[in-house]
Amino acid sequence: MFQLFVFQFSFISGWTLLIKLCANHQLLFINLASGSRADGSLFPSLRKYLLVSSNTMDQFDNLADNRLIRGCIYCGGLPDTRDHVPSKCLLEQPYPTNLPVVGCCDSCNQSFSKDEQYFICLLESVLCGSTDPEKISRPSVRRIMEKSPALRQRIEKSKTEVNGQIAFIPEIERINNVMLKLARGHAAFELSQPCRNEPDHFWCSPLLLLSQEEQENFNAAHFPHVFGEVGSRNMQRLQVLQMTRLDENGKEQNIGMLFNDWIDVQDDRYRFLAIDDMGQIVIRIVIAEYFACEVAWGL
Ligand SMILES: [Zn+2]
Repeated sequence: MFQLFVFQFSFISGWTLLIKLCANHQLLFINLASGSRADGSLFPSLRKYLLVSSNTMDQFDNLADNRLIRGCIYCGGLPDTRDHVPSKCLLEQPYPTNLPVVGCCDSCNQSFSKDEQYFICLLESVLCGSTDPEKISRPSVRRIMEKSPALRQRIEKSKTEVNGQIAFIPEIERINNVMLKLARGHAAFELSQPCRNEPDHFWCSPLLLLSQEEQENFNAAHFPHVFGEVGSRNMQRLQVLQMTRLDENGKEQNIGMLFNDWIDVQDDRYRFLAIDDMGQIVIRIVIAEYFACEVAWGL
């Protein structure tokens, strides 16, 4: 079914954007109805207007060379099981359809589960300001906290006070383990890139600790300079941005650009952006709109 959405925004003084969106074909037309300049400064702001652009959980077949991601995506061993990326424990029921899965070995699969459990319990404790299961808002996490008093106690012991506010001192290695696993999963599934070696860059933090400008850059859609693995799912997700503007003489000028937007796995719970600029891999993840992470290889 063909659908056309038209939105009109005035988000920069003197500018009006008329956005025509063809959902099925993922084409986006932006007409600059007024204004005289179209430069990169517009693009970091686009994400909030592009959220409606398409069902980003649409499933694509991997058309890249399958040999690239043979074996367990974490250790290269025999892939005797499959792993959801992201893990279901990071999401709420009902789970999104088309959750990505990657091949991995049983041993790797098992090795992450305790750290994932720790991470989701810590995150909810931070968001709710307490380890008391009755105060934990996610039902699935509340159940884990009720069934695992030792885990609850461990998190409770890490509780402290900073500037009069409740804070928890995280077990960094366990959190890094979870985030690196997620990043490797997205790189394999979306980019057809096995990233088993240690990353060249790893950063994670609450999103709010970034300045406003840093948050805008982090949250921006990505406009690739060069393209990554041909046929990868990420390449199939590329969207077209076409801008028409009037020059000083009133003549229309067309500018076309390709970009990858964030993939919203579940609203307000999990989103990520996968970037492959000719082998420079960057994965950005935001969990519960609170915890952010960036992992990169090949820089
Ligand atoms: Zn493995």
